[in-house]
Amino acid sequence: MSHIYKKFVGERVADLIGDTRAIRNCTIIAHIDHGKTTLTDSLIAASGLLSKEVAAKARLLDYDLIEQERGITIKASGISLIHEYNTQTHLIHLIDTPGHIDFSSHVTRGLRLTDGAIIVVDAIEGLMVQTETVSRQAMNELVRPVLFVNKIDRLINERKLDSKKVAIEVTKIVREFNTMLGKYLDDERLEEWEVSFRNGSLCIGSALHKWGIGISTLTERAGGKANPSALAQALMDILEEIVEIYLKDERKKLSEMYPVAEVILDAVVRIVPNPIEAQGYRVPNFWEGEIDSPIAKDIMSCNKESPCLVLVGDVQPDRHAGAAAAVRIFSGQLIRGKPLLNLRTGNLGKSLQIGLYMSKSRVALDSIPAGNLAFITGIKDLLVGDTLVEESIAEILPMRGLEYPTELVVTYTVEPRNLAELAEVQEALTEFVKTDPALEFETNPETGEMLLSGAGELHVEVSVEKLTRRGIQIILGKPMVLIKEQMTRDGEVCESGEPPSSTFRVKAIPIQEDTDIPSFGSILDSDTQSQCYLIDATNSINPLDENTEWMKEAFTAVMRSGPVRGERMRMLAVVIQKATIRIESPENSWRDITQPLVNSMRESILSGNPVVLEPWVRLELSSPEDHVGALSSIIARRKGHILEIDSERSFFKISAEIPVRSSFGLANEIRTTTSGWATWGAKAGEYREL
Ligand code: GDP
Repeated sequence: MSHIYKKFVGERVADLIGDTRAIRNCTIIAHIDHGKTTLTDSLIAASGLLSKEVAAKARLLDYDLIEQERGITIKASGISLIHEYNTQTHLIHLIDTPGHIDFSSHVTRGLRLTDGAIIVVDAIEGLMVQTETVSRQAMNELVRPVLFVNKIDRLINERKLDSKKVAIEVTKIVREFNTMLGKYLDDERLEEWEVSFRNGSLCIGSALHKWGIGISTLTERAGGKANPSALAQALMDILEEIVEIYLKDERKKLSEMYPVAEVILDAVVRIVPNPIEAQGYRVPNFWEGEIDSPIAKDIMSCNKESPCLVLVGDVQPDRHAGAAAAVRIFSGQLIRGKPLLNLRTGNLGKSLQIGLYMSKSRVALDSIPAGNLAFITGIKDLLVGDTLVEESIAEILPMRGLEYPTELVVTYTVEPRNLAELAEVQEALTEFVKTDPALEFETNPETGEMLLSGAGELHVEVSVEKLTRRGIQIILGKPMVLIKEQMTRDGEVCESGEPPSSTFRVKAIPIQEDTDIPSFGSILDSDTQSQCYLIDATNSINPLDENTEWMKEAFTAVMRSGPVRGERMRMLAVVIQKATIRIESPENSWRDITQPLVNSMRESILSGNPVVLEPWVRLELSSPEDHVGALSSIIARRKGHILEIDSERSFFKISAEIPVRSSFGLANEIRTTTSGWATWGAKAGEYREL
């Protein structure tokens, strides 16, 4: 396959990478099983990369073996496609993102690199929690949506709806989707971004049968007219025709009459802004530098002639090259072998190879201009979210970190299968967690016990399977839920330390999701997953000072071990109101700095009435009526509650919540109990008192 990609890139793509206005960077997202993979394969086929027959079966972006075994897409991998629109050739960099909540850190990364998202929704199931979670992230990242309502064939064949009723079902989903957008976008953007046939951001069809309709289909049918009533009439005519074709069992015609890839790729070209437009409004959203500075102008206008700046969106270990990173080039040219400075580490590194991801393969190039997605190999110590720049702009602020919606909720003990490989396993895990910000690995210094934490059961298990396939053999212990401690009211102002030691005056404050942290002072340290912050309100502490490292260590120690039960803390800010730092002798800095700070933090937290909490998970199950009873009893047995049963569609939608501790093995139980009929989605629920 790789020679086909090479040829394709060489003959058709290489000329387009410099034509910034012809580029679109897009991700494809969906709730699991809504048809993302099926659709992606059709899009790839349209680029001449896969034969049409193979497209229905091959799952090209799903190339990881584990993904195939589990039938879900895990890795955000990419492919570059070309598409003719209005006699112009366009280059579409498409990245795939997984639909399962346990992997949503991958979703966020994909979003930061792209300017648009094709959101696939199953017409029978409608919007699911997952769609909403991911769409919310997309809106936060100012990624513009294109909605594809998929599986229209099921409305016709299974639910036996006529064309009018099909149109009503579609309208319901579109209305729900736009209402959701309204929650996250300001009015002006909402007006522009709302999905509709009219503005070209809505398509419907069947990915399985490879047909789709969008604005170009409708205007053609309306004889070129674009007024709402002509378009509505055209839609009704086409739907009637399609229902008829299904009834006559002639569905094969449909992919010829209304090829799905055409309408989706047309919509992407029309709706997703090119990198020049997109960077103009997206960059200020995640970069806090001076917007009027010359370099900001270069980045916001995607200037190919300026110094190079790239953002790392994904890092995957690679057997030969150490690691391969997926990046977006925001300005300048990425040139093979030219040194780049990592703004996080201060290290200068040279790439070994650069080029384009083409699914399984990487096709190497010598230079790639701004506006494109690319891969880099050979640069050491890269983390997701890193900003790399040419040395001439070393002073620039890095892009703001990516936000991950998933908190660590489970921990497993891990052991090497073969004790002699302990050191190797430790090293492999330490490296591996760098590729996934939603994983954490630590070794208890006293007991030597190794702990691997992640966003959920599936997340950790899949990660371990990946390691196993690389020859790292480990045994996973039983999952444990990460219990946390959280303050329930403001702590008191507490002072600790006596000269000649340092003294500190601190106040610990519980925070909410929307608390404006910077308003407390400057952030010295944070654990973003648990949302714990160490704040300097004195404005006198130098974050780069050696002594500050001791303060961070004290903070980490207290956050790792709360005062009630020694569990991790969550959702709080420790504000340092006064600090007098004195060190008797360098050997004693631990005692002189850390001790008084730890004491004052603990005391203030305790005065804020901390309680012990456990994580819950929100579930949404979609199932035919006859399994609703069985599903309800599974939830009850697992000590959960049903919140709502929605029977508006032919599939029932059950919303429920259960404690994470009783959620293990749930996916399997649902699958076997309902013989695979029910699908489910989950998102992190609240933390509740234990
Ligand atoms: P993903 O999890 O979103 O990638 O979903 P897949 O593309 O793997 O599709 C999930 C299942 O739905 C597969 O069995 C597909 O064959 C099926 N499917 C996908 N699109 C359609 C469609 O348009 N109509 C019907 N009836 N089934 C579809």
